[in-house]
Amino acid sequence: MIKIAKFGGSSVASAEQFRKVKAIVESDPDRRFVVVSAAGKRFDGDNKITDLLLLVNAHIQYHVDCTALLADIEQRFVDIAEELGLSWPVRERFATFARNIKKHSPEYIVARGEWFTAHLMAEYLGLPFVDAADVVVFHHDGNVDMERTAARLKDVMVRKGCFVLPGFYGATVDGQIKLFQRGGGDITGAILARCIDAGLYENWTDVSGFLSADPRIVENPRSIRRITFDEMRELSYMGASVLQEEAIFPVREVNIPIQIKNTNRPEDVGTIIREKARLGEDEHLITGIAGKRDFISIHIKKAHMSGEVGFVRRALSIFERYGVSVEHIPTGVDSFSVVVNGADVRDSIYSIVADIRRELEPDDISMVDKLALLSVVGRNMSKRSGTSGKIFGALGEAGINIRMITQSSQEISIIMGVNNEDFDHAVQVIYDRFVRDEMVTTS
Ligand code: ASP
Repeated sequence: MIKIAKFGGSSVASAEQFRKVKAIVESDPDRRFVVVSAAGKRFDGDNKITDLLLLVNAHIQYHVDCTALLADIEQRFVDIAEELGLSWPVRERFATFARNIKKHSPEYIVARGEWFTAHLMAEYLGLPFVDAADVVVFHHDGNVDMERTAARLKDVMVRKGCFVLPGFYGATVDGQIKLFQRGGGDITGAILARCIDAGLYENWTDVSGFLSADPRIVENPRSIRRITFDEMRELSYMGASVLQEEAIFPVREVNIPIQIKNTNRPEDVGTIIREKARLGEDEHLITGIAGKRDFISIHIKKAHMSGEVGFVRRALSIFERYGVSVEHIPTGVDSFSVVVNGADVRDSIYSIVADIRRELEPDDISMVDKLALLSVVGRNMSKRSGTSGKIFGALGEAGINIRMITQSSQEISIIMGVNNEDFDHAVQVIYDRFVRDEMVTTS
């Protein structure tokens, strides 16, 4: 089986981390295709190379001298090379890059983070280096040309049999460097996995996978061993992010599982993300709980609105006019609410409400702000009746007022609105009642 092993920034931040990567790659002959991010933070408060390179661009744009900054970046690579006794001419290559810095495009400059890191890693692992600019092909609009990319990746795979590929960037057919979004090394790994028909996409990072709740709220939460792509989408959307969200699409379409692993604790199983759970695996009721604070719910009431065609659409078009994306629309018979992210409407909320009043003439319009949304996610919830009732009951007993409820269409999540100040308590109550208790009864 071919495994793609993608190592994130913290996994390649220093010589010490490089050693861990080597041990991991060499412990499994299936790991022949390695993707790396740019060297990341070595410790809290340290800088990621990508951020430093973005800073270089800002210096150039404002005509500020960036010699010292470039020297810092160079030193990071030199330290790794010297400590590992590598012979790749890092100083020469960096000097050429720095000498021509003003001739390079901003994307080219930022992409050097992964380019230098991958060169060093390739030598250290004894694998060939493949430049992403030669194999990951972008259209001019910034989307990947999957057909060309697949053909090129398959070709190098056959020719070389193994390689190290820098993540995060590619190039148009005329050689212009293009970048993915931040964290985009994960996307490169997923594209490679898909294009060369890998059996598994391993994503090595600095956590042992997804946790079932935020460890800042819940003490020592259970790790999630298996999760479906849909569940992961729900959890990441609500803030429990480990993987670049866009990274799941290339692999999910062709059914390649992703395994999140911890470079610093390779013995931990991590989390495996698949399209469908296998029968008999992890019958946990709740897979995870996530959420975010600071939403606003605008409640619109009008008698007989359910018979008025286009009423909801007209309300939503007002939000659209202000460029505000709508998170949820819980509906009643003669009323509905529009839930939006507080930060998105900071400057426009009063104009939006005024427009709704004028254009829709509702009987009543009111607002609840400082609302936190909490998503309880679990593919098994739909199979067991009474789950939502039990969750609401538990929150009620704890004196937490639920201000809004919606359920996702596939019934894999229940989303509840509570006051911002009740958020942590609500997560804790649901975790204790449904996850911790389950752990006690099954252990
Ligand atoms: N180096 C890039 C970033 O920091 C991409 C990545 O790390 O995946 O966003």
